[in-house]
Amino acid sequence: MPRQTRFRSNLSERSEFERASVNTRRPKGLALRRNRIKENDVFAAEYPQSRTRSGKFTKHDAEVVYMALKDYRFDGSKNLNLKKLPTNSSKDKVDKEEILKKTEKNQLRIQELQDRLYADGREGLIIVLQAMDAAGKDSTVKHVMGGVNPQGVDVYSFKQPNSEELAHDFLWRVNKCLPQRGKMAIFNRSYYEDVLVVQVHKLNKTYHMAKRITGQDDRDFFKKRYKQIRNYEEYLYENSYRTVKIFLNVSKEKQKERFLERIDTPAKNWKFSHSDLKERALWDTYHKVYEDVINATATKENPWYVLPADQKWYTRYLVSEAVLKALEEIDPQYPKMPKEERAMLKDCRAQLLKEK
Ligand code: AMP
Ligand code: MG
Repeated sequence: MPRQTRFRSNLSERSEFERASVNTRRPKGLALRRNRIKENDVFAAEYPQSRTRSGKFTKHDAEVVYMALKDYRFDGSKNLNLKKLPTNSSKDKVDKEEILKKTEKNQLRIQELQDRLYADGREGLIIVLQAMDAAGKDSTVKHVMGGVNPQGVDVYSFKQPNSEELAHDFLWRVNKCLPQRGKMAIFNRSYYEDVLVVQVHKLNKTYHMAKRITGQDDRDFFKKRYKQIRNYEEYLYENSYRTVKIFLNVSKEKQKERFLERIDTPAKNWKFSHSDLKERALWDTYHKVYEDVINATATKENPWYVLPADQKWYTRYLVSEAVLKALEEIDPQYPKMPKEERAMLKDCRAQLLKEK
């Protein structure tokens, strides 16, 4: 079984979200009106119902989310070329202090929407985290989801499959970890390993399966797996789930720096294994395969986000935006109390007040 962990709540009260605001320079007069009309068109397409119905999240906030993620979102409409994507924030010219504030605000908003998601129970959200070693998957999970109610989120780490898992189809162990609707599940690594590490190391050749499977060309084998993954995610979407896939894009230099830190700091030694260097030596192959996999499985309904991962403060912010965007699209609503029960509230209230 994949390892499961739960979160601890560490964020301040929700009212902080309500107090938080974003500083914006707004144009005046006619220009302001024209700009609003333009904004509305973009938002209508990107954020169907959420802003108006859920209230507190403003159109400006939605614009910030949209702009920040635009270059990093892959939904099948453009091709990913990893060499062209940044691994840090320098291209985006952001202010760290402002980003930290926005991340905190996003965490509070995620907390609020997750509460609604759970109460609503109509959709489930799966967040897939993939990356090279030391890209910051664990700490991303900890920081972005730190504030949500532990009842509503499950985290699973997928390691090398054991013999029982290997004796089943590759989605078997994943399927057991699907959240019930209303919950979120975070997959720290996932079924994507079955087209990543398995493809890089040709582990498919070692599978104990029929000759028609192991005997085929590797390219055909993995093309079929891409299709199976697309179909699986589509199946989930059609069963009221959404899957958001995140690749933390760390540079080779930053990985070296973080590996050295793991070697030099006794409390971090456990995070390092000598075999990590063997995977590092295959960096270019992994990147090529990642590109191939992402291009083959990015869809409008189940997009990939390829996020710069050299600066944790920026990664955490972008991850929070991606999660928020999915939650805003779900637009969960608190269930309405049936009329008859609502009518009884008055009586219940009176009864309680009469108590001595
Ligand atoms: P980590 O997440 O760094 O603790 O390492 C987990 C290891 O398990 C990684 O090296 C993964 O590549 C490996 N792993 C996860 N899923 C699979 C899989 N389906 N087949 C082979 N190796 C896997
Ligand atoms: Mg590792």
